[in-house]
Amino acid sequence: MPDAVVIGAGPNGLVAANRLADAGWSVRVLEEQPEPGGAVRSGELVEPGFTSDLFSAFYPLAAASPAIARLELERHGLRWARSRTAVAHPAPDGTCATISTDLEETVGSLERFATGDGEAWRRLYALWERVGGHVLAMLTSPLPPVRPAARIATSLPPAQLMRLARMGALGVRRLADETFTGPAGGRLLAGNALHADLMPEVAPSAVYGWVLCSLAQQVGFPVSEGGSGRLTDALIGRLRSRGGEVACGSRVTRVLVERGRAVGVEIDGGELVTARRAVLADVDAPQLYRDLVPEQAVGERVLDDIGRFQFDNATVKVDWTLDGPIPWSSPEARDAATIHVAEDMELLTRHAAELVTGRIPAEPYLVLGQYSPVDPTRMPAGKEVAWAYTHVPHEIRGDAGPDGLEGRWDERETEAIAGRIEDQVERLAPGFRSLIRARHVFTPPSLEATNRNLRNGALNGGTAQLHQQLVFRPIPGLGRPETPVRRLYLCSASIHPGGGVHGGCGEAAARAALVRERARRTAIAVGGAAAAAAVAAARRRG
Ligand SMILES: Cc1cc2nc3c(=O)[nH]c(=O)nc-3n(C[C@H](O)[C@H](O)[C@H](O)COP(=O)(O)OP(=O)(O)OC[C@H]3O[C@@H](n4cnc5c(N)ncnc54)[C@H](O)[C@@H]3O)c2cc1C
Repeated sequence: MPDAVVIGAGPNGLVAANRLADAGWSVRVLEEQPEPGGAVRSGELVEPGFTSDLFSAFYPLAAASPAIARLELERHGLRWARSRTAVAHPAPDGTCATISTDLEETVGSLERFATGDGEAWRRLYALWERVGGHVLAMLTSPLPPVRPAARIATSLPPAQLMRLARMGALGVRRLADETFTGPAGGRLLAGNALHADLMPEVAPSAVYGWVLCSLAQQVGFPVSEGGSGRLTDALIGRLRSRGGEVACGSRVTRVLVERGRAVGVEIDGGELVTARRAVLADVDAPQLYRDLVPEQAVGERVLDDIGRFQFDNATVKVDWTLDGPIPWSSPEARDAATIHVAEDMELLTRHAAELVTGRIPAEPYLVLGQYSPVDPTRMPAGKEVAWAYTHVPHEIRGDAGPDGLEGRWDERETEAIAGRIEDQVERLAPGFRSLIRARHVFTPPSLEATNRNLRNGALNGGTAQLHQQLVFRPIPGLGRPETPVRRLYLCSASIHPGGGVHGGCGEAAARAALVRERARRTAIAVGGAAAAAAVAAARRRG
């Protein structure tokens, strides 16, 4: 019997498993899919000889995360590859805002748009240099993150601390208006903020934009050389070297609960796997509370709150193999691995408003990845492998574009949305279409079929909006990995700090399990000592 069972071999499940194995626990990870990795997988998705990242691709969070750094995955085969231009935001007028890992280049890019904007970025980034390490520590600390918060407070003079706190209440549009006079800074901040399902006008989009742009500056937007699957391979190789096991094709259908404690799981087909010390679930919160744990063990209040749980937007992703690099009109965009495709802040607001009102965006905002500037091992010489994703609403009430899409995602609709995505790229890179060799399209249902956590194509395990952050994630009052069932911990992106490959959720859950086990052992030891003392005293009394 293992000490711990981990349900799901996504990055959070694997970080948790590694942490427990480091503490000497025996760990078995049970994964439903035929291969591990969750949303961190790669393979020849489109065409033999071309390696695509099936889901996540760029790992600034992983490269900077203390939870991942601690694992020293480089010793297990992980190699980061970086393009010097981390992210580019080209526009139809031929201009292109960029963040380079060289601060002077970023400053220069912004200065070309408006005098003073480069210096404004230098100041915003200086703030990150002072507190960024503590911000990242907050991401991997269970709530409340007392120590990193205290360190932030002591790193800054009171006035600057208040300004930082105020940034938490800002939309990214306002931050850009207050900071820059030209459009480039706003494009960069908002393009990054909208990796989460936030409108440029609402908090905490300013913080999201600042954190991601600062990470782009600090560590770049690295990829895992050879494919994102290598990151998963490193996590698994490390786990196995410490005796951990990973079993694929094992869907957990039930968490076994006895006297309010999780004692194991049942796998599809009826096999029971018991766990001596803990069960950790790398599954989305609604699956855990509605489908896996018996209703009476969860309780009415939690089930009621889970009824209000909100997933982040649905997603459509297109992967291409190409006969050559994408011919961006802006030369700067050719050097970047990550491109944001959106004319300007107005388009981002329109895109977000269409999503909020249930319409499929007419001109979708794209996050696009291209590998020739960063990892040429992925394709034959002179060729290119690339992808772009955009968001669509979960409940579709209409199509803001001309195709009458209804969210059926049949062949016609899949072709139409892929065509709309390709139009957006073609506008900035004339000739792009003629380079396409083949493509693969993930729609919301096909994303979910590859990983049930990607509910209807939701990427981040739940919305990033304020009402589901921090102590409200996944539900009010359960803002930690602990659940109402003793020895059962939620370790997926549905808990703080949410989506992204940073391992923070897995780290927090493993830590919670270890702390509880230590407390239990201490209690037993103290109880044992007290009992022994009582027996000795009774003997003395005769
Ligand atoms: C298209 C896409 C692009 C993204 N881009 C990026 C990016 O570039 N950078 C970044 O940092 N993040 C990105 N993300 C987000 C990031 O990948 C996720 O936030 C992260 O993978 C969440 O990790 P996780 O371990 O919580 O869950 P997941 O990665 O979703 O893994 C969960 C695992 O649990 C398994 N599972 C679920 N239920 C069961 C069950 N009942 N029994 C057994 N197994 C089960 C699933 O099959 C899956 O393998 C992207 C996500 C997607 C989908």
